[in-house]
Amino acid sequence: MHYLNYIDGDWCNSDQTMTVMNPGSGEAYATIAKASVTDADRALAAARRVVEQGLLSDIRPAVRTEWMLNAAQAIREIADEGALVACRENGKSLQDAKDEFIESARYFEYYAGMADKLEGSSIPLGREYVDFTQYVPLGVSVQIVPWNFPVSICARSLAPALAAGNAVVIKSPELSPLAVTLLVTAVESAGFPKGAVNLLCGTGSIVGSHLVKHGETDQIVFTGSVPTGRRILEDAAYRATPSVMELGGKSAGIVLRDADVKKVLQSVRSGIFFNSGQVCSAMSRLVIDQARYTEVVDAVVTLAQSLTIGSGESQSDITPLISAEQQYSVLDMIEEAKREGAKVLTGGYVPDLSGYFIAPTIIEATPDMRIAQQEVFGPVLVVMPFETEQEAVAIANGTDFGLVAGVFGESLSQTLRVAQKLRGGQVYVNEWFAGGVETPFGGVGLSGFGREKGQEAIYSYMQTRNIAVRL
Ligand code: NAD
Repeated sequence: MHYLNYIDGDWCNSDQTMTVMNPGSGEAYATIAKASVTDADRALAAARRVVEQGLLSDIRPAVRTEWMLNAAQAIREIADEGALVACRENGKSLQDAKDEFIESARYFEYYAGMADKLEGSSIPLGREYVDFTQYVPLGVSVQIVPWNFPVSICARSLAPALAAGNAVVIKSPELSPLAVTLLVTAVESAGFPKGAVNLLCGTGSIVGSHLVKHGETDQIVFTGSVPTGRRILEDAAYRATPSVMELGGKSAGIVLRDADVKKVLQSVRSGIFFNSGQVCSAMSRLVIDQARYTEVVDAVVTLAQSLTIGSGESQSDITPLISAEQQYSVLDMIEEAKREGAKVLTGGYVPDLSGYFIAPTIIEATPDMRIAQQEVFGPVLVVMPFETEQEAVAIANGTDFGLVAGVFGESLSQTLRVAQKLRGGQVYVNEWFAGGVETPFGGVGLSGFGREKGQEAIYSYMQTRNIAVRL
């Protein structure tokens, strides 16, 4: 199967092709047209035309609401077909792949309800003035997407951008660009004008960089790694292009003395082993009260050893990593941790399967070790004990990241006290990944800035304009 780019309402081929691998088998799965810098220029020009002609911004907002709801329905209709593609190109389980499409539909439904409620306000300045404040779209939004949740992360930015009246150019990830084309097909059928949504699959260093530096780009929404985020911010600085940065994390869950171990285990299962740990907000560190340390660590190790390992289509608990490079990088970090004196309690090896697997791994380390400081992006949980609440908070907050954090405990006052001291855009109490499309999400520190999800996010896609009239 060969996939195409989507530019100005047409599916377009290109002279060059990229091959997409199936990480579950290590074999080639499909090809996709590789976008060029010229394709990027065409996509930006199409989006600019939509902005200049006000095809999204100068219509009655209820029309955008209708298109958004049509898109949501179309996404739900292709969820099964899309899930199969996402599962094969990404290695994730079929159910998780389908959930990405369902979550994408939810973003469109949620922001459909906001498209016609972007109300301004009026400020009294005395009898001789009329003053009002409006929220207007930014214009052309360039959205750069990572490979781990390409569909739902794409929808997370695309939906509010369109609801707010922006035109969009999406740069899909090189490793998993296929399922996003199905998402865009569904959105395309919803009624939006030609050029409102464009999709390019090209390399980050050429096409992504070109889009970021371009004078037609009014906004950059980047989700990806810290090194790429830094490069993009340097490029964005030249034109002071407004940016949303959703970067990595090294998030910690604190297990207090009165924590319910069942809740901790459920959260370990989803927090670090969901998508084999390739999740920006993964619970990659567990900081445990010394009095419960042995009991909780033993339970976590038993859980890790009970997980099944296999391809996404086999619906196993642990699915393959995205690529051989990612597998190597995870193994390398585990080996380095061992050299630093960390103790592998279980896992840490490559199972005897074709595909890029790593066995679920629990490592006992100290807070300063690299494995406890840097994002691993694999099924690797670091466990550490603490003696006082203050120490627990210091360990949890003691990295350069600040995406999410969590606390487990049965005392309402203690969990809330600790939750309010934790560094992160979202703090979970007694359930990792609690929340949903309605709850704001984003980081502090090296995890980035700007918010996605929730009502607040739509204002990331708008500018405030005040009009002061002297009568
Ligand atoms: P990455 O930084 O390697 O690539 C992300 C995207 O940026 C890709 O589409 C890539 O082609 C593009 N890109 C690369 N160089 C570029 C450049 N110079 N200019 C413009 N675009 C460029 O990240 P990845 O490996 O795809 O994703 C994994 C990372 O993403 C992890 O660090 C993870 O934590 C992070 N992430 C963050 C969130 C969040 O919401 N905070 C969500 C998912 C993933």
